[in-house]
Amino acid sequence: MYLKFLLLGCLISFQYCSFSQAKKETTSQKISTMDSSKNPVYSRNSTDKVNLSEEEWKKILPADVYYIARQKGTERPFTSPFEHSKDVGTYHCAACGNPLFQSDTKFDSGCGWPSFYQPISKTSIIYTPDNSHGMRRTEVQCGRCKAHLGHVFEDGPPPTGLRYCINGVILDFAKAKEAEKSYNEKSGKQ
Ligand SMILES: [Zn+2]
Repeated sequence: MYLKFLLLGCLISFQYCSFSQAKKETTSQKISTMDSSKNPVYSRNSTDKVNLSEEEWKKILPADVYYIARQKGTERPFTSPFEHSKDVGTYHCAACGNPLFQSDTKFDSGCGWPSFYQPISKTSIIYTPDNSHGMRRTEVQCGRCKAHLGHVFEDGPPPTGLRYCINGVILDFAKAKEAEKSYNEKSGKQ
């Protein structure tokens, strides 16, 4: 009799363990393009400002990210896998991990780069006038590390009327399983 209870107890605790394990794994599946071991400033939840020298950035960023982030480069249009991605989750700065845009503010602009109509918060982004190349544009930079992200234009969809045209190379995507579930439920109802 005692043995039976003991076995039952073991079984319950085993099931509980495997349940919490499974829950942990499915809560969020994160896809990262960054090698965080090489980048000590990368964090998806720190709000501390990052101030590194160009030399230090060059050491810790992959060449393509460095070119966009620090040299204000532009990736070739229609080359980013994020351009038409419908995955649900959060787009972070690939240089420092700062959360920049939610996938539900992303839209197909047809311009050749991933486009969003609204950043996560006012402090996610820094705006700077950019009069280079004979154009009057507004540059957008990461609010935490000042990486160049792209530009913002006033021809976007409602509710903001803005189009944040962002280089895919400087984006790092974290897919949210739970968010995906509620998003699907919501769109099913509409
Ligand atoms: Zn950043």
